[in-house]
Amino acid sequence: MFYISTRGQTRPHSFTEAVEVGLATDGGLFLPEKLPDISGKLASWAGLTYPELAAEFFTLFGPDIPAEEWRSLTAEAYSRFDSPDVAPLKKISEQTYVLELWHGPTLAFKDFALQLLGLLYKRQVKLKGKKLAVLGATSGDTGSAAIHGCMGQEGIEIFILYPNGRVAPLQERQMACTGAANVYAIPVPGTFDDAQRVVKECFGDPSFVSAVNLSAVNSINIARVLAQCVYYIWAWMKLPEEARATVEFVVPTGNFGNVMAGWMAQQMGLPCGGFRVATNQNDILYRFFETGEYKQGDVSPSYAPSMDIQAASNFERYLYFMLGKDQNRVREIMLRMKRGDRVTLPKTASSFRASRMDDATIAEVIAQVWKDHGYVVDPHTACAFTDMAKDRVSVVLSTASPAKFPEVVQEATGAEPLHPSLEVLKALPLKTDPLPATAEAVKAFIREKVGA
Ligand SMILES: *Cc1c(COP(=O)(O)O)cnc(C)c1O
Repeated sequence: MFYISTRGQTRPHSFTEAVEVGLATDGGLFLPEKLPDISGKLASWAGLTYPELAAEFFTLFGPDIPAEEWRSLTAEAYSRFDSPDVAPLKKISEQTYVLELWHGPTLAFKDFALQLLGLLYKRQVKLKGKKLAVLGATSGDTGSAAIHGCMGQEGIEIFILYPNGRVAPLQERQMACTGAANVYAIPVPGTFDDAQRVVKECFGDPSFVSAVNLSAVNSINIARVLAQCVYYIWAWMKLPEEARATVEFVVPTGNFGNVMAGWMAQQMGLPCGGFRVATNQNDILYRFFETGEYKQGDVSPSYAPSMDIQAASNFERYLYFMLGKDQNRVREIMLRMKRGDRVTLPKTASSFRASRMDDATIAEVIAQVWKDHGYVVDPHTACAFTDMAKDRVSVVLSTASPAKFPEVVQEATGAEPLHPSLEVLKALPLKTDPLPATAEAVKAFIREKVGA
């Protein structure tokens, strides 16, 4: 199994190489050169626990890591989830199930990938005997999940930049209250884009990158997408048999990473019905699936901040498949998108539907779902609850615990959503390392901390 770039200008990489470098040197994203067919394996996977299923799956995609080691990696990665099912599937009405993806340490679905990625980094450090500096920018959930995947891991220092005052208070606490010596939560002035720009500039300095052995943590690592495929297979196997062939997965979407994983599982032979891309008011993907036109606008802050995105970084992977794996065309179209050109793609038959939801409706939906089903959803998950398929079962992917977004939820339901791990956090001291939003300042700080 080798990994190629969507833009076709890098040599094939092994799984561990592709995970280590993250982004291909031609600017493209890694994908397996050929998707394996899992349809013949589903029956034998039926009785497995979640970590066992993940190990079977990854043995297909990362054959350069022995099967035995995959079993211990996935067992450890999912041992810190607070549900024995890891990803429990709850039935809330005759036709509707909710797949709760927030039982990991930071209470959002990103833990599924980043708990595992932290262990893969650790394995790399051990094999190579070289310390690693992990750097990323976050608007909230990715940073906290990455920190919890790396904290306390020997040989790794993790640096996460975020816009000062612009992440949710509990998200900041998840980053800044770990007490771990290898974690640096770095507020910088400005917006998420400023933080992101500084990170990019750091990676644009090759001598710095090699001096501190810098690695990027972001939403495009292939290990993240693959780790997310597993819970689609898991949920599908938990459904009543008669519901499986037509089930629609409804996925709150920003960067297109989560729903891309589901679609890839379907391409591998998971016989499910299809997907609905559920966006908030930042609806570039909704507009794309409705009209075929991909045109970036400005980001407007919403109740569902982890979906406040106008450039869906994982979309390039879908594009690659849609363009018949024509890497030259992917390269050309990505260039046009980067310039901000309007790009229109032919509308092809696809298994995607799309929906959008504004903030006023998000608040109404949280109240309505509570009233109808006695079930509390967070503002991201709320975006899924519209335009439900009438003739088949839906599985809503619940991406965060309502306790992470207490204000909106309390206003809608009248009760403050609580989670014990967040209550603990509220009492802990905040430790941040504020820096100016410049690459010079950040590079000097990292150098000092890793002793390079
Ligand atoms: C990151 C995130 C999303 C969006 O996921 P993508 O993979 O970017 O589409 C949705 N909800 C929550 C809670 C998130 O943290």
